[in-house]
Amino acid sequence: MKRRMKTASEPDQSARMAGDGTKRAAPTMIGAVKMAAEYLAGREVSSPRLNAEHLLAKIMGCERLDLYLRFDERLTEEDLAGYRAFLKRRAEHYPLQYILGSTEFYSLPFETSEGVFVPRHETELLVEWIEEIFEERGDATFIEFGVGSGVIAGSLVSRNPAWRGFAFDRSPRAAELAKRNFISLGVSDRVHVFVAETFGAVGRGLEFDLLVSNPPYIPTLTIPALQKEVSVFEDEGALDGGSDGLCYYPQLAEAGVRLLGPGGVIALEIGEGQGADVVEILAAAGYENAAVKKDYNGLERLVAAFRPGC
Ligand code: GLN
Repeated sequence: MKRRMKTASEPDQSARMAGDGTKRAAPTMIGAVKMAAEYLAGREVSSPRLNAEHLLAKIMGCERLDLYLRFDERLTEEDLAGYRAFLKRRAEHYPLQYILGSTEFYSLPFETSEGVFVPRHETELLVEWIEEIFEERGDATFIEFGVGSGVIAGSLVSRNPAWRGFAFDRSPRAAELAKRNFISLGVSDRVHVFVAETFGAVGRGLEFDLLVSNPPYIPTLTIPALQKEVSVFEDEGALDGGSDGLCYYPQLAEAGVRLLGPGGVIALEIGEGQGADVVEILAAAGYENAAVKKDYNGLERLVAAFRPGC
């Protein structure tokens, strides 16, 4: 096939010599986003345009919306190579947040890293509900099981300057990341992070106002059917809640009975359709006034209850 020759009048300020000797203009920001979105859509990445924007903003070191102010600026060869590498990785369904290395949770910045559960927006509801339950109470103490990257504990203490707590995870990688996030948020003096398998490590004599957790709650056999981002690339230990997904709730309930003070609150994230079972587990352990809350998609997402003794 005959190659079409570029005419002299074509804009070639930023034209590059391609490997085959022809001149090819580097794409503009807007052109690059469009091409990338099409490429990602073809690889069945959900929200392809948003992903394309986030990744280009990361390459350009700017905010996503700035891309539209700089829409006709052309990418350099180096930017383009970096962008291509990101897109290739994302097309393999490697999580966006791992490529970006950060995410927002409740409008606060958190570092994200491979091997540690990616924060989900639904979990913001847990923080919101806890604050509603505590009615802007000045001081409160909490303990969190499964700190992950630290979004729950980090946002609770950032938003409530007199709250303090303990947060632990079985994964040393998660605990390290949470610690880094608490340092960046300037709250590391109010959350003590440690690595532990169970609540057994929490000393007797301590009493908390709140036990909070987003434990692993996906039934083991359904994990392979989740989107690749989750099933292939996330830490299975942070997802797998045993055969029915409920295996962590009895130990959380039991820990709360031991560690919560009178009138203390247990607040837990749950999976779809687990509300009645978790309420039953809490009621059997003696909790009162258990309530289930749905998320914005109308799915049961949270359960909270009070330890008796108000
Ligand atoms: N909500 C997460 C998901 O759907 C699972 C969270 C969990 O197991 N705690 O992937």
